Amino acid sequence: MYPLYPNTSIYQQNNGNSEDYILRRAEELETEDHIQDSMTFTVEKSKSTYRFVNCQGNLLRKFGCQQSDIEGKDLEECLPTNHTLKKILSSVSAWEGKTITYEEQWNGIPFLGAVTPIYGEEGKVKQLQGFCVDISKKKETENQLKEREYYFRTLFKYHPDGIFTLNKEGKFLFVNPAVLSICGYTENELISSCFIQLSAPEEREKVKDFFDQTRDGKILDFETTVFHKDGHPVKVQVTNIPIIVDDEVHSIYGIIHDITQQKKSEKELHLLKDRLASMIHHSADSIAIFDMDDQLVNANPTFESFYGWKAGELIGKKVPYIPEEYKDEYGQILKEVKKGNKFTSIETTRITKDGSNFYASVTLSPLEDEEGNIIGYSAITRDINKQKIAQEALRKQNEHYRIITEHTMDLINVFRPNGQILYSSPSHKMILGYNAGGFKDMEWTKVIHPEDLGAVIQSIVNMKQTKDSSKIEFRVKNADGNWVVLECYGTVVLNQKNEVESFVTISRDITERKQTEDFLRKSEKLAVLGELAAGIAHEIRNPLTSLKGFTHLLKANAADENLEYYDIMLSELERINTIVGEFMMLAKPQPRNVKPNDISKILKEATSLLEAQANLYNIQLLLDFDSVLIVNCEADQMKQVFINLMKNAIESMESSGGLLVIRTISYKDSVTISFIDEGCGIPEEKLSNVGEPFYTTKEKGTGLGMMICNKIIENHHGSISIESELDKGTKVTITLPLSLKAESP
Ligand code: ADP
Ligand code: MG
Repeated sequence: MYPLYPNTSIYQQNNGNSEDYILRRAEELETEDHIQDSMTFTVEKSKSTYRFVNCQGNLLRKFGCQQSDIEGKDLEECLPTNHTLKKILSSVSAWEGKTITYEEQWNGIPFLGAVTPIYGEEGKVKQLQGFCVDISKKKETENQLKEREYYFRTLFKYHPDGIFTLNKEGKFLFVNPAVLSICGYTENELISSCFIQLSAPEEREKVKDFFDQTRDGKILDFETTVFHKDGHPVKVQVTNIPIIVDDEVHSIYGIIHDITQQKKSEKELHLLKDRLASMIHHSADSIAIFDMDDQLVNANPTFESFYGWKAGELIGKKVPYIPEEYKDEYGQILKEVKKGNKFTSIETTRITKDGSNFYASVTLSPLEDEEGNIIGYSAITRDINKQKIAQEALRKQNEHYRIITEHTMDLINVFRPNGQILYSSPSHKMILGYNAGGFKDMEWTKVIHPEDLGAVIQSIVNMKQTKDSSKIEFRVKNADGNWVVLECYGTVVLNQKNEVESFVTISRDITERKQTEDFLRKSEKLAVLGELAAGIAHEIRNPLTSLKGFTHLLKANAADENLEYYDIMLSELERINTIVGEFMMLAKPQPRNVKPNDISKILKEATSLLEAQANLYNIQLLLDFDSVLIVNCEADQMKQVFINLMKNAIESMESSGGLLVIRTISYKDSVTISFIDEGCGIPEEKLSNVGEPFYTTKEKGTGLGMMICNKIIENHHGSISIESELDKGTKVTITLPLSLKAESP
């Protein structure tokens, strides 16, 4: 049956009248329970129009019409413009007696119609007989089917798994887009080709066997590998389902799922699990798993080596490794762990099987099952025994160092090559009067003696270059402004790259030692001098006396022109005499003739001896004496001291003139005698030389005067101090103990 008119459902039948045909069709339909209502009608041609002669049946009522609405009416009048029947009638003469069927609908009811022409005597079409049946049920079913098919098609099209059907030969009948994307072929390339070609060669036999089993009616599920068009393997899971029609396998459904990624993840997971297991096995930390009752579930080999128990001995038991004193605390912690809290690096001690203790760092973490319930906990123990012992040793050592550096009388400094001080020992306060903290912040170059600074800096530079230690002496100004001599040992601290990281210096105050050394040096000279003097002074004095006497004698008888020479000879002899006299003074060991003497009296005698000389150089003497001062002394020696000091004062003012003040002040048990001049003064750096044997700045000086003074005063248990300022003057002060047994004046 082919449509008679294009785009219609009008069909031409070859034989029989319409009613016979329709009834036959109706029977077919009725068996399918689709027919309900029908209608018959007759149409006659009068002139050029067609008219309904009769019309009856249930369908008419269903259409919503009465017989009287149709019977006797023109078709034009009753039927809508485009009604199929109208079209059919327009070519009725060409039918040649055949029945025409058509599908149409009226007032919303679909129906199947059939018309047969009836011919009159003259061979012209006289009447048309028609029959219609309601096909609305059938239409409805058809629509439902269409809709369902649409659903299925969409499902196939968008399903992420590949879905295909194979015929019994294994050729593709249908494939969805997911199949295409899994294997990379186009639909055209796949349809009618055999599925087996996609399989990896080594898999083909297995896959073929599965296919055969499905063809025998089995549903099968298997994993295999197929090859993508570009050659790479794709791991897939395949489900084969037989499609059974009339008890026979008609074709095969296949569902194919790409499991490459899943396989990869599974492999990675396996690997991860293996690694984790190996890590736990080989871990340097002890790892143990406990259940909620604190019973051991499992432990690694390190646990065994730490604690000495075999894991097997303790599984299912509590591990007695907590020292008694930690039990309460540990119990508290475990409570928290079982609530889901983690504790990292708890430092504690643990007991081993043999009862010994070790320091341990313990980490406790709760363990959960898949639903997140806590089912136990893991305990990771790290042996920190060595670390702890080392720490303790280091702490003690540091403590020792701290005690040493905090209490040493040496000055300890640590500083960077750029001069920044990192550490200064507290001894700075005691030795120099600076707070260690304060010393750190001050510019230390400023407290070093300008004359020594160059050497200090040079020594640091050398240390930096040679990385060797060094020793240097230099002067530092203390908080009172006095110079302190330091002996300093410096060492370098190198970093790992062998670069100088810092310097450590240890300095010692050697001011006193220096003074003692100076003193000793002087004393040594003195002792030698003393011996010399004792030996030769007398030997010189005697011949000197005769020389002097005979020179006077010769002078008396000398010619006038020679007189001058005798004077020179005499004055030179006098000079020798003085020096020898001074030597004699030195040689005299201890004052022998010590008695209480009035110092003022001795001073006055001394002044009277020098008054002439003072007047000569325009020098005024001012005596400012305290009340009577009685000192236990040898008067001659004391007089010698005063003369020496006054002479020096006068000599210092020879070119300028000026005032010499001699002042005595008495204290409770001592007396000071000061000689204050306005002379040339002594440069600071030369002060220490004054008093050394033969130190003189004068053309005719002996450099013995001050030394003798020192010695005499020392023998009288007193001391001499000198204060001087260049071009301003000098103050020499003698301090002597006052005699307790004062003689009344
Ligand atoms: P002399 O007087 O023979 O030089 P001294 O031992 O008496 O030897 O003095 C040593 C040196 O000390 C002197 O040469 C002088 O330079 C210095 N001196 C001592 N007293 C004074 C003073 N009052 N003023 C300046 N210089 C002094
Ligand atoms: Mg002198």
